Amino acid sequence: SRTFKNILVTGGAGFIGSNFIRVLLNNKEFTGRVINLDKLTYAGNASSLDDVAARFPDRYDFKQGDICDAELVSSLFQSYQIDAVCHLAAESHVDRSIEGPEAFIKTNVNGTFTLLDTARKAWTGQFENKLFHHVSTDEVYGSLGDTGYFFEDTSYDPRSPYSASKASSDHLVMAYFHTYGLPITMTNCSNNYGPYQFPEKLIPVMIENMLLGKALPVYGDGKNIRDWLYVEDHNSAVWTVMQKGRLGETYNIGGENEWENIKLVNTLCEVVATEAGLDVSSLKGLISYVKDRPGHDQRYAINCDKLKSELGWTQSLNFEEGLRKTVRWYLENRAWIENIKSGEYRKWMEKNYSQR
Ligand code: NAD
Repeated sequence: SRTFKNILVTGGAGFIGSNFIRVLLNNKEFTGRVINLDKLTYAGNASSLDDVAARFPDRYDFKQGDICDAELVSSLFQSYQIDAVCHLAAESHVDRSIEGPEAFIKTNVNGTFTLLDTARKAWTGQFENKLFHHVSTDEVYGSLGDTGYFFEDTSYDPRSPYSASKASSDHLVMAYFHTYGLPITMTNCSNNYGPYQFPEKLIPVMIENMLLGKALPVYGDGKNIRDWLYVEDHNSAVWTVMQKGRLGETYNIGGENEWENIKLVNTLCEVVATEAGLDVSSLKGLISYVKDRPGHDQRYAINCDKLKSELGWTQSLNFEEGLRKTVRWYLENRAWIENIKSGEYRKWMEKNYSQR
């Protein structure tokens, strides 16, 4: 299994990246250092890692900056002697990609290119013991009908500017492996949920609105199907692939846990009612159907047998437990949510980190 000394994590102030860093630094198998490069867009929140910064002052460094900035990325490779990259930075919200696709092309396509090309140059002639891991999504595969699954060799068929930009980045990653021999691994994962998810994605939006007694917006007929995975299980899979995955390969990651949106929202009402002591039928009464998202993919379902049989990974939490943990976290961390909403975390940033 591979070992690394200095891992550059991009997008580490986001939902999945902050969890990845927390899990990695608390993992006894890893004794190196993490450098978190994050631009701190609206979705990034460096204070999500306050606990990590306090606990691992010598092993965790934060740099605010853009993955499209080749000079900055190259200077980080040199000064920290980066031997692995875990690339998570992205514009990640499908609805925002419909309203304004440009940032998605810049960050997801050009940014990924900049990282790949910088790694290629910085590691020239010494690809051994180096790794570029790219974190991607199952949305690149398009949409499924009532049956079937996405496999690693399913043709790409992205439908939204978000998924098209992620598909482009995946192709660039593979091209760098085949053309230059850059040591890469890749993962394509289904929908994540858990603590620290920005309250614009389905599960935190619903929890938030239930607590505030606001309408619970469900797209179309609510029958779109998604597969859900707890964020820590996603990251244990990413780490497994980084250590043991075959170079040049992608591994699908999923929860094997498909839910119709409307059923998910109903179940979430039940969990929130129990955990927050609210009336379940009042919560369900807040459900309100809204006009469907354009190009809304009907169903995603992922087959992750390759990861399970080849690398021995498995999910650790069932959905009910994961939802309970998540709801409890949102109940116990009101300050985090309030900061995001009030822009307080931006002020916190300015106070705690000087701008470049
Ligand atoms: P997120 O939006 O919560 O976080 C993204 C982070 O990237 C933010 O901290 C943001 O500040 C940073 N960022 C954005 N543009 C940047 C730039 N130009 N330079 C540096 N940093 C920049 O996203 P997430 O949900 O944590 O997703 C992380 C990765 O996982 C993404 O690549 C996404 O495509 C992938 N993914 C997400 C899911 C999911 O369900 N959330 C599922 C599969 C794959």
